[in-house]
Amino acid sequence: MGYAAEVIALDDVRASRQRQALRQHLHERFDRWLDELEPHLPEAPATLAQVSETIWALRQSLTAGVAQTIIEHTHQDEHRRQDLRCATCERLLTARPVVPRTVETLIGPIEIQRPYFYCRYCHQGRYPFDEVLGLRAGRVQLDVEQAAAELAIELPYETASTLFGRLSGISICSERLHTLTNQAAEGLSVLDVAPSRDEIAQRVAEVAAGRFRRPVLVLGIDGAYVPSRPESARGRRPGQARYRARRARWCHEWREAKGFRFYLLDGDRIVHVLSWHQVQTEHDVGEALRQVKEAGLIPEESVRLCVICDGAEWIWKHVQQVFPDACQVLDYYHCSEYLHKVAKAQYGNAESAREWAEATLTRLYLGKVGQVLGGLRRMQPTSDDARKAIDNCWIHLHEHRGRTNYRTFRRGGYPLGSGGMESSNKFICHVRLKRSGAWWYEVNSNQMLALRCAKYNGTFHQVFARSQREKSEA
Ligand SMILES: [Zn+2]
Repeated sequence: MGYAAEVIALDDVRASRQRQALRQHLHERFDRWLDELEPHLPEAPATLAQVSETIWALRQSLTAGVAQTIIEHTHQDEHRRQDLRCATCERLLTARPVVPRTVETLIGPIEIQRPYFYCRYCHQGRYPFDEVLGLRAGRVQLDVEQAAAELAIELPYETASTLFGRLSGISICSERLHTLTNQAAEGLSVLDVAPSRDEIAQRVAEVAAGRFRRPVLVLGIDGAYVPSRPESARGRRPGQARYRARRARWCHEWREAKGFRFYLLDGDRIVHVLSWHQVQTEHDVGEALRQVKEAGLIPEESVRLCVICDGAEWIWKHVQQVFPDACQVLDYYHCSEYLHKVAKAQYGNAESAREWAEATLTRLYLGKVGQVLGGLRRMQPTSDDARKAIDNCWIHLHEHRGRTNYRTFRRGGYPLGSGGMESSNKFICHVRLKRSGAWWYEVNSNQMLALRCAKYNGTFHQVFARSQREKSEA
C-alpha cells in the first residue's frame, strides 16, 4: 500500500512539474506577443475601438502561438522521435532532419517541426507527427474549410469569401469555396443528410413530454421553382471569359426543386425534423421517401403521421405506397383558391362573390364537403369561364373529398395548411438559390440544396467531416 501511494505521489509530482513547465512556456510565448503588440498600441488616450482594432489585427499570432506551444509541449516524444517501423516491410527507419510545415487553422497559422522517415526499400516517406495530429494534406485545415463552407451555403460565393476573410483573417477565394462545397456535397443522398433514428426519436420525445396524445408528425411534399441553366451553357473552350457576352446561346429556365419535409407540431411551434429538396423527378422523390421509411427513421408508432399537400396526383401516389396509414390532408388554403376562382368567375367583383366564397369556405372548414359539392353542382354558370371554374373546383374537391375532413383534423390537432412545407421551400431553396443574376446548373443546385438540407437537419458538420475524410483516404 505504502509503495503504491508513493508511486502515485511521484506521478503527481511529475504531472505537476509538466504543468508548471507548460505554463512557463506559455508565459514566455505571451511575453513575446506583448513585445509584438506594444509598438502597435495606439497612443493614450485611446478609444476602445482603437485598442480592439489593434488586438484584432494581432490576435492570431497569440492564439496560434498558444496552440503551437501546447502542441510542442505535449508531443515532445513525437518531436524527438528517432525511429519508426516501415508500415510495409517493418524495417526500422531512422529519423531524417525535421521538416517544418505551416498549417492554417481558425486560430491562425501554426508551424510544426516534424521528423521525416523514409524507407529506401519501399520508397515510402512518412511524417508520423502529422498522423498523430490528424493533419490533412494541404495547408488549410478542416476547421477553416468547414467554417468557410458554412458561410458559402448561406451567401453568394463572392460575398462569403469576402466576409470570411474579414472575420477569420484567412483568405479563401470564391472559386475555392465553390470547389469546397461541391466536393463536400458530392453524391449526398437523403440518408446522408438525415438525422439519425435516435436523434429523431429524441425530438419526438421532447415534443411528446407531458402530453396526452402522441404528437403530430407532418409530412409536407411540394415543389419550389429555382433558377436553372442548361448543361449546354457550359463553356467548352478555354478563355471562356472572352465569350461571356454570348449569353444568347442558352436560355435560363425555372425548374422545380421537388422535396419533402417532416416536422413536428408543438402547439403553435414547428419542430424541424428532416428536409430533402432536389431538382429531381417525381420518381426520385418517391424513392427518397422509401429510403427514409426503410431506414426506420420515422418512429411511426410514437407519432400520429399526417401528410399534407395540394392535389398533385404524383404526391398522393407515393404517400399511398410509402405511408399508407398516414392521415391525409388536402391543403385547405389550396382549396380556398379554387373556391375563390369560382366566386370571381361566377359573380365578378360583386359583394355576392365575397359572400359566397366565405359561406362556402366556412362549410368546408366545418367538414361539410358534401354540401359544398352539392352547392357547386346546383350552380347555374353565368359564363363559360364560370362553368370551367366550377367544374375544376368540383373535380378537385370530389377527387380529394376523403382528405377534407377539416373539422376532424382540427379536433385531432392536425394542420390544415402546408405552411411548414412552404417555409422549407423558402429557407432551404429560395434563400440561397434565388439571387439576382444566379442561374444554377442542376448538379450545382442539387449539391447546394443537399448541404442546406444537412444544415437545417443538424447534420452539416458530420456530413462535411465525412466527405473530407473520404477525400483524404482516397
Ligand atoms: Zn519499407
